Amino acid sequence: MDLYEHQARELFAEHGVAVPKAEVVTAAEGAGPAARRLGGRVVVKAQVKTGGRGKAGGVKLAADPAAAELTARQILGMDIKGHTVHAVMLAQPVSIEAEFYVSYVLDRAAGTFLAIASAEGGMEIEEVAAVRPEAVARVPVDPVEGVTEAVAARIAAAAGLPDEVVPVLRALWRVLVREDALLVEVNPLVRTTEGLILALDGKVTLDSNALFRQTRWGGSETGPGADPLEARAAAKGLNYVKLDGEVGVIGNGAGLVMSTLDVVAGCGARPANFLDIGGGASAQVMADGLAVILSDPAVKSVFVNVFGGITACDAVADGIVRALESVELTRPLVVRLDGNSAARGRAILAERAHPLVQQATTMDGAARQAAALANAG
Ligand code: GDP
Ligand code: MN
Repeated sequence: MDLYEHQARELFAEHGVAVPKAEVVTAAEGAGPAARRLGGRVVVKAQVKTGGRGKAGGVKLAADPAAAELTARQILGMDIKGHTVHAVMLAQPVSIEAEFYVSYVLDRAAGTFLAIASAEGGMEIEEVAAVRPEAVARVPVDPVEGVTEAVAARIAAAAGLPDEVVPVLRALWRVLVREDALLVEVNPLVRTTEGLILALDGKVTLDSNALFRQTRWGGSETGPGADPLEARAAAKGLNYVKLDGEVGVIGNGAGLVMSTLDVVAGCGARPANFLDIGGGASAQVMADGLAVILSDPAVKSVFVNVFGGITACDAVADGIVRALESVELTRPLVVRLDGNSAARGRAILAERAHPLVQQATTMDGAARQAAALANAG
C-alpha cells in the first residue's frame, strides 16, 4: 500500500528525518489560514499517490496566504495521471543548495534490500539512471546487519553524498524496518543554503502483508487514493491488478494468469489487467471479475483462460453463463477451457451461444484471437 506524501513525512519526522513545517487541507478556504500559520509564503503540493506532480502542475509556490488559497483552488480537483486531487499540503518553502536522491527498495531478484542513492536528485531517478547510470549508486543492504554507521557511510561515499546525510540514511532505514515498508524514497533530499538536510518529498510503500500490525493507515488499499478499479476489485475480494493495455485477462491460478499476460504480449497486444479468480471460481466471482474488467474503458476484448484442475470447466462455463445474465457484455469475450471437464464446459458455452462469446481450444489460439480483436477494436 502506498502512502501519501504527508503520511510519509509523518513517518520521517517520527524516525528523526527533518522535514519542512507543513499542513494539509482538503478545501481551498483552509489554505489561506494555514499559509498564514506557516509564515505566508508556501509551496502548495497535490496529495496524490503518483509521482511527477511537479511536472503536472501539482507543485506550486504561493507568495502569500491569498495566493495560497487561489493555488489550492486550482490544484484541488485536478487530475494527475488518473488520480483526482482531494487534498493539498502547504509547506514552508526552503532555499535549496543541492538536491539528492535516496531510497531503499526490496530487490526481489537479488533477494535483498538495495540502497539507491544519487547526488543528482530532484529529477526522476529513472531518467538519471538512463542518461548517466554512473551517477546512481546501488548498494546492497543486508537486512540482518541493517544500515549501520559504516554501511551508511559506504552508501554516501558511493553516491558522492555529503557526510551530513549519514544519520538521515540510518533514520530512513529505521522507517523501512519499523513501518514494514517495501520502499522508502526521498526525492529530493535537500541541503538548504543554511546547511540543513531536509526531506522535501517522500514516498513510502508498506508491505500489504503487514497491514494487520500497521493499523494506523486504515489497513486497506481501498481508500480514495487507490486506483479506482483496483479499489473496486479489492472491495469484492478479487485478486486484480490494473495494467496499461487493452486485453482484459481472467484466469484461474496466479501462475496461469502470469503466463497468460506473457502470451497476450507475445501476440502483439497488451494485457489490461491481472485477475486471478482462483480455484473453485463461482459464478459470482466470474460476474464480479467481468464487471470490473468491462468497466475499464481501455479494454477492447477479454480473454478468459481456465485450466480445469480441481475446478471443473463445466462449473466455470456455468459461471460465465450466469455472469452474463447480470453483466452486460459490451466487448468480445474469448474463452479457452481445458483440463477437467473441458468438453462439457465448451458444450455449455456453445449451447447458450452469446454473440460476443468465442471459444478457442488452445491458449495460444485464444490469445491470438483476443489480441486481434483488441487491435481491431
Ligand atoms: P514530485 O514532482 O511529485 O516528485 O514532487 P516534489 O515534492 O519532489 O517537488 C518537485 C520539485 O519542486 C522538487 O524537486 C523541488 O525542486 C521543488 N520543490 C518542492 N518543494 C520546494 C521548496 O520548498 N522550495 C523550493 N525551492 N523548491 C521546492
Ligand atoms: Mn519528488
